[in-house]
Amino acid sequence: MWWAWQPAARALFRRLGLTLWVRSRKNPVEMLRLLGQERLEALAADPLFLREYDAVMAEFEDVMAARRSWFLDTYGDVGNGGIAYFCAEFGAHTSLPIYSGGLGILAGDHFKEGSDLGVPLKGVGLLYQKGYFRQRLGEHGEQFAIDEPFHPESMPLERMWGNGDDGSHAIVTLAGREVHLGVWRLAIGRTSIYLVDTDIERNHPDDRALSHQLYRGDLEMRLRQEIVLGIGGVRVLRSLGIDPGVWHANEGHAAFMVLERLKERMEAGQSLDQAVRQVSASTVFTTHTPVPAGHDYFPREMMERYFTEYVAGMGMDEETFFDLGRHPEDDGRFHMSALALRTSDHRNGVSRLHGEVARLMWKGIWPDGAGDENGNPKPKPPPATAAQAAVEIPDAPTEEQVPIGHITNGVHLPTWLSPSFRQLFDRYLGPDWVLTQDDAALWERALDLPDDLLWRAHLEAKYRLFSVMRQRARRRWQDEESKSSQVIAAGTLLDPEVLTIGFARRFATYKRASLIFSDLDRLEGILTHTWRPVQLVFAGKAHPADKPGQELLADVYQKAMETRFGGRIAFIEDYEMNVARDLYSGVDVWLNNPRPPLEACGTSGQKAAINGVPQLSTLDGWWAEGWTRLNGWAINGRQPIELGGDPLARDEADALSLYDTIESEIAPLYYRRDVDGVPRGWIRVMKHAIRTGGMSFSSRRMLKDYVQRYYAPAAASATADSEG
Ligand SMILES: *Cc1c(COP(=O)(O)O)cnc(C)c1O
Repeated sequence: MWWAWQPAARALFRRLGLTLWVRSRKNPVEMLRLLGQERLEALAADPLFLREYDAVMAEFEDVMAARRSWFLDTYGDVGNGGIAYFCAEFGAHTSLPIYSGGLGILAGDHFKEGSDLGVPLKGVGLLYQKGYFRQRLGEHGEQFAIDEPFHPESMPLERMWGNGDDGSHAIVTLAGREVHLGVWRLAIGRTSIYLVDTDIERNHPDDRALSHQLYRGDLEMRLRQEIVLGIGGVRVLRSLGIDPGVWHANEGHAAFMVLERLKERMEAGQSLDQAVRQVSASTVFTTHTPVPAGHDYFPREMMERYFTEYVAGMGMDEETFFDLGRHPEDDGRFHMSALALRTSDHRNGVSRLHGEVARLMWKGIWPDGAGDENGNPKPKPPPATAAQAAVEIPDAPTEEQVPIGHITNGVHLPTWLSPSFRQLFDRYLGPDWVLTQDDAALWERALDLPDDLLWRAHLEAKYRLFSVMRQRARRRWQDEESKSSQVIAAGTLLDPEVLTIGFARRFATYKRASLIFSDLDRLEGILTHTWRPVQLVFAGKAHPADKPGQELLADVYQKAMETRFGGRIAFIEDYEMNVARDLYSGVDVWLNNPRPPLEACGTSGQKAAINGVPQLSTLDGWWAEGWTRLNGWAINGRQPIELGGDPLARDEADALSLYDTIESEIAPLYYRRDVDGVPRGWIRVMKHAIRTGGMSFSSRRMLKDYVQRYYAPAAASATADSEG
């Protein structure tokens, strides 16, 4: 996958054949299967192509053979054996649909950055051979979820042959039946992700389906998948001869991996306490959602069916086992996050504010407080400014009281920059800016980018988005005779001269996709204003089992077809990584309006920011620490966050602030042009967005934080333990 973030390598694939490239969903393996021999022979005789090919291959070989990296230079062989990173989904590239959204894409960015920095990451995930789903919308906005099955052979995956007679690697037992595990390796540059596959012949049909689909099926299917991921994943690493020094569970789905490691130690004769202490020392757990329903938990009787034997086998008493997964407000169920928190010494939320929420949610796990060295809770430092007070949660415990910290998410810049911004940065920040991107001075220079060229790079990205929308609309009109109202909803009446606000999210209710529709008359006035019109572009999927989410989606879609809004609202179908990049870079403003503090981070706004697209957002997630007043706008920024406040009152106040900010700040600034047509005041905001994004919200900063604060100490204590 190294090519996925190298402009020259991507250009090479496009040159092989643009039509095939697009038709194969930018999948090189599939494309090369479809490419005719004649074309290959013609290219093999084309000196220009060969020169580019040789240059790309030479760079690739250099990277893969490099003996030096930031990680090796700084840490040597700390974490010898590598850092295992377990996650239920990985979003590396649009062509490999084994992700649903933010969590998976964050994991993909983590690995790309890991390759760039030389961090020895070993991923463990599941291979979902039926993909997530592709979204089609009917004429009333009803969502059709279309399967997208693929053959691993047509993906950039390498089959790993294990010692089983059919090449399988390990076995897990699910309620008495053995499931054999196959493995595929996904290489992300210098890092690897091992994808577990249960769809092999000797497995029972029900078990083969375990690695078919992501986040579908019922609760029991989820439990079985998580056993395969966690317990099976550890066994697979062992079978591959990998002995990680650090184990990172990215979200609670992966928490069973600690059980298998406890089992290994207890079988080797350690006491439970000893095993828990040592496993915790080398375990990192990242929690990702402040919404309680977003955490996994399983009923006790279901757990017993799968674990009674396993737990007895490891010599653990059954009550002790259930204690490990007990929620502080004991509801009798087994909570994956509770298990992970109790068995990891390094725990974090994914933004400063989310760290506070996570401490509040889970303080019951440390009823006496974690305390300082004398066991006393440390007082919280007072907020520095009024704005900061508004984004703090009153009474949230400190990290000393509840040992959950935070590392704010960041995004992989080479992946998320539009081609025109990549060129602009290469030219003005210097050809090596990707290597030196954590030098703050580099991003100060973003403020000096030439106005006219920055504006032109933005317009290029905007035209690209609008052209993508028209092409998609045209194709559906031609191929499927879609209704004319759907052609309008697809964005064909949008005008690239007009201020365009983008919003793309999973349709979960707390994200409030319809907040901007709270007052239709006022919105109509804003969108159809004579001098300062505004356009909206939406995208997003609703989970196939989430009926309220689908209704919300249909509602938004129907607004796009309403004549009163004059075709100034568009909905792009099938939100995934490819359309996402065009969207983040091609709108003028990125809108994010979750009900605070329910958005843990919100990386889409970071991807927009580095493309010079400022954010308009409630002070939630990363915006609570990223907003400087110069780099975008806050919705209702002065109203403090109140847990358990009246959500409807908050919605109303936020909607008013949203309209006010668009009418009185955003639209006037956007349309204030110099004689040459360039909006200098607006460009100032764009530059500050780039500065903030590049300086503080890149995956470079994020991964270095993980290494310095968690991976290196975890590896060191694990080594000390094994020596002691
Ligand atoms: C970045 C990204 C997300 C996550 O964005 P949020 O701001 O967390 O909603 C979801 N889907 C896609 C396709 C993305 O690229």
